[in-house]
Amino acid sequence: MFRYLLLDLDNTLYSETLGLEREVLRRMNEYVARLLGLDFEEAAELRRSRMPAYGTTLEWIMAEHAFREVEDYFAYVHPEGEEAPLSADPELARLLDAIPLPKAIFTNAPREHAERVLDRLCVADRFEAIYDIRFNGLKGKPHADAVIRVLAACGVGAAETLFVDDVPKYVKGFIDCGGRGLLLDELDRHGALSLPRIKSLSELLGIVAAEDAAAVPR
Ligand SMILES: [Mg+2]
Repeated sequence: MFRYLLLDLDNTLYSETLGLEREVLRRMNEYVARLLGLDFEEAAELRRSRMPAYGTTLEWIMAEHAFREVEDYFAYVHPEGEEAPLSADPELARLLDAIPLPKAIFTNAPREHAERVLDRLCVADRFEAIYDIRFNGLKGKPHADAVIRVLAACGVGAAETLFVDDVPKYVKGFIDCGGRGLLLDELDRHGALSLPRIKSLSELLGIVAAEDAAAVPR
């Protein structure tokens, strides 16, 4: 039986098609290009090639390029107004209200970004907490340390926690810690992976109900 719902933020609470995270990624590549003296395409290619080894772009440039201007990076990548493509989502609010579990956000972004997104969607009060990248000492998903730290803060065990994210390696990291991970695969890209998948958060209602039904002694 599930006791807690942990949700990723970007491209999980809102559709990837809105393009918000695409812009975040563009600013990350711009930042890396300037930092390393590359043109945009070179930086994008280098970033893509290094990402399999790291949880985030920030983790990569800190580890391989002695980068330390963390707050400057966050301010550039997450400027005020970045949330403009989003709007209030009453359907999401109703869905969250209908899922009878406490909920928190587990994101590799900084808190200010998460707060902007949640405020814009008008669902901030549906979450007990935001576990952001600073909470995890700048080393977040998919690392086991981050998963364990967040679960401890939620006061639940991995096996009784449902986690949803749109990034396969983050879902895998959670499952590797004994948790119940689901990949949100909105655009049906990851059918070849052996991860449990949903296409829409609306499927959570049935998944949680089925789990509850299975837990009732007969
Ligand atoms: Mg995401």
